[in-house]
Amino acid sequence: MIPFLDLKSQYASIKDEIDAAVHRVLDSQQFTLGDEVKAFERDFAAFCAVRHGIGVNSGTSALHLALLAAGVGPGDEVITVPFTFVATVAAIEYAGARPVFVDINPNSFTMDPTAMEAAVSARTKAIVPVHLYGQSADMFPILEIARRKGLVVIEDAAQAHGAEYYGQRVGSLGDMGCFSFYPGKNLGACGEGGMVTTDNDQYARVIRMLRDWGAERKYEHVFKGFNYRMESLQGAVLGAKLPHLEAWTEGRRAVAAFYDRALAGSGVPTPEAMLYARHVYHVYAIRTHHRQAWQDGLHRLGIQTGIHYPTPVHLLPAYADLGYGRGRFPHAEKAALQVLSLPIFPEMTADQCAIVCRAVEQIARSVAQLVDA
Ligand SMILES: *Cc1c(COP(=O)(O)O)cnc(C)c1O
Repeated sequence: MIPFLDLKSQYASIKDEIDAAVHRVLDSQQFTLGDEVKAFERDFAAFCAVRHGIGVNSGTSALHLALLAAGVGPGDEVITVPFTFVATVAAIEYAGARPVFVDINPNSFTMDPTAMEAAVSARTKAIVPVHLYGQSADMFPILEIARRKGLVVIEDAAQAHGAEYYGQRVGSLGDMGCFSFYPGKNLGACGEGGMVTTDNDQYARVIRMLRDWGAERKYEHVFKGFNYRMESLQGAVLGAKLPHLEAWTEGRRAVAAFYDRALAGSGVPTPEAMLYARHVYHVYAIRTHHRQAWQDGLHRLGIQTGIHYPTPVHLLPAYADLGYGRGRFPHAEKAALQVLSLPIFPEMTADQCAIVCRAVEQIARSVAQLVDA
């Protein structure tokens, strides 16, 4: 079986470093924030080329606090895409605002800036482009429209650690960037974690307070805050992993390059890396009109696959109350029906990649024959 991702092989490769980090925390008996989190915040901010990193307990919390720091609240609208993980949209509602969706560019799977401009209203306060699958959204037009209309830009970079847009790191492009360190993400904690990155001193200060009950000093609660602190254990483990992230990213890019080459000419639509992008391939999604047959066939051949995501958020029962119906965002809806994610992780061998490609080609041929007959 070729797994969709393989966290055990990554742990095995740096077990001593991770175990040492864990034991440092146990020895210190400091379990929340502290020096381990501070050091990781400093290192991850430097990795993103920004002044501030604020560690929190999840990517969702990062988005929630970034929105609050931007002044988003009840009566406001926040523009994002429906083709994303549900957390992007949930965080907008946590802040009390209304999510307004715009369609994606079908080539990049990310926000269509023209559709975004058309969705701006007098109530719009912020824009949340999502760097889906590890590829930056097309940020220059988004930033230009935002500056012109006075909107805050918050990047959802939960899938895009180390991705670049014209050579500039995501998380440093908008006013704030939000990262997730969920175990399966490109940089994963041994539990939950997240971070807001920003160059803005005021946003950083407010988010630092909001994550810890709205206080800068103990029991002096200036804002109504949250318990969103990053655990020391996560800071220590993430700090031990960060020096390896570039090599892991190059490992992912090598797997993607292998797939691109092997599947070129097979008729299987492979993901497009945009000219502006350093794609970090959190997900490698091919497209097919016969997804169920492909997924079943690949499974029989021992290849685990995933679907990111089978239903766009505007068609989920939980968000039916937003009032969007089927047909409103045709590119997002079509992508949700067609995308199929192949196994991709930094430790994947060339042999494993070749097995996946042979299986994909075999399925592509047999399903095409089935449909022709
Ligand atoms: C994972 C993810 C989130 C949420 O991060 P958590 O750490 O799971 O809360 C938000 N947005 C996107 C696009 C994600 O992939």
